[in-house]
Amino acid sequence: MISIDRSIVVLGGGVLGSSVALHLADLGIKVTLVDRPETGGDATRGSFAELTALDALNHDHYLLTSMGMSDWRRWGWRLGTDVGLRWDGSCRWTGDPEAAEHLRRITSAARDRGYPVREISAPELRELVGLHESVEVLYAIVADDDGRVDPALVVAGAKRALRSAGGEVLKGQARIRPQIGTVDIEVGEQSLHPDVVVMTAGAETHALVGGAGSDVPVRPDPGFMMVTDPVAPLSDQSLHFTTDEGWIAVRQDDRGRVLISRDWRLGQRNEPTNEYARHFLRRLARTLPVLSQATVASVSVRWKATPSDGLPITGPIPGLPSVYVALGHPGITLAPTIGRLVASEVHLGEPAPLLEPFRPSRFAERAMQTLLDVEELFEGKGRA
Ligand SMILES: Cc1cc2nc3c(=O)[nH]c(=O)nc-3n(C[C@H](O)[C@H](O)[C@H](O)COP(=O)(O)OP(=O)(O)OC[C@H]3O[C@@H](n4cnc5c(N)ncnc54)[C@H](O)[C@@H]3O)c2cc1C
Repeated sequence: MISIDRSIVVLGGGVLGSSVALHLADLGIKVTLVDRPETGGDATRGSFAELTALDALNHDHYLLTSMGMSDWRRWGWRLGTDVGLRWDGSCRWTGDPEAAEHLRRITSAARDRGYPVREISAPELRELVGLHESVEVLYAIVADDDGRVDPALVVAGAKRALRSAGGEVLKGQARIRPQIGTVDIEVGEQSLHPDVVVMTAGAETHALVGGAGSDVPVRPDPGFMMVTDPVAPLSDQSLHFTTDEGWIAVRQDDRGRVLISRDWRLGQRNEPTNEYARHFLRRLARTLPVLSQATVASVSVRWKATPSDGLPITGPIPGLPSVYVALGHPGITLAPTIGRLVASEVHLGEPAPLLEPFRPSRFAERAMQTLLDVEELFEGKGRA
């Protein structure tokens, strides 16, 4: 085996790994980004890639995602190429009373946090979006500052910039070899002995960390994406609306193609067929008539890494301080901030306050607290 010593290995070259690696290289650190040949991200490649903090789950999550949106303005320039970064806003509406209540709650929480989101009337919505006349609108909002990128261009741009900044991109399937208190990484015939491994393997992080004898509670969640051939202009904004299949996200890219995304329930079927995609498109045309001219170019289901509490995970793994994990939703929005802060933590060893609520250790701490609570409950019952 050829032995190559690198101080930092970033394992996984989706949007998060590419960002962490480039930020490390920009700090002057020698970094190797390991990724499978031809992937450049699993969730990343099939992402809707909207930049928004509207769905933040709590205040800390909001601070991180809104910082992600600000950091995109800087990172978009750093990538040195057009990555499809646009700030055209987003628009959501529903005719379903329950979904309207949910959207009202999200909107009110976002507004209380200072997020630029406003309610609009049904006629205002119809001026913005070419809706079918039969569409019922109970509640509608616009988030003027939301944005979007082209994730494939982002990852390609980041890897190019990484190489120019002196970083290395190593292509291959990585395997973990646990050592005492640390891990080695094997890629083909090469064996890497890094001082620190940053694990950015998305939905596969759980299995890789398991191979190192540890655990991060992350489950893979499927997300559906369909891309159509180019159609007539639809809307500059990203659109979110409800159908009888739940919330659907639709936007048009710079080439006129329409991206359509939704959660995917594996109970229904594992892989979406082209027949399903055509049927789905016909149903969406009842809301957005311009889609009646659209034809399906591609469909995919990609796996999002979803931590058990829905919040990102960033930090060293308990018991394995040289292995650092970075993952979570919404990963495209978060990428520039997570990349910047993780690189700085790994380099300087100083914790970034914004990342404190998202440490992997929180799960063990919660489990311990539950044990203590149960113990206390039983002791209380014993005394009663
Ligand atoms: C349908 C859908 C819509 C979405 N919409 C949005 C949105 O609108 N806005 C938003 O911000 N986010 C959105 N997301 C979420 C976002 O796309 C993800 O959070 C983000 O792309 C995750 O990036 P990542 O780098 O962590 O993981 P990934 O993109 O999955 O990358 C992981 C990488 O690790 C590599 N890897 C894994 N194991 C190994 C190994 N053993 N050896 C070598 N390489 C390995 C994989 O090949 C891959 O390249 C969406 C996701 C989906 C699926």
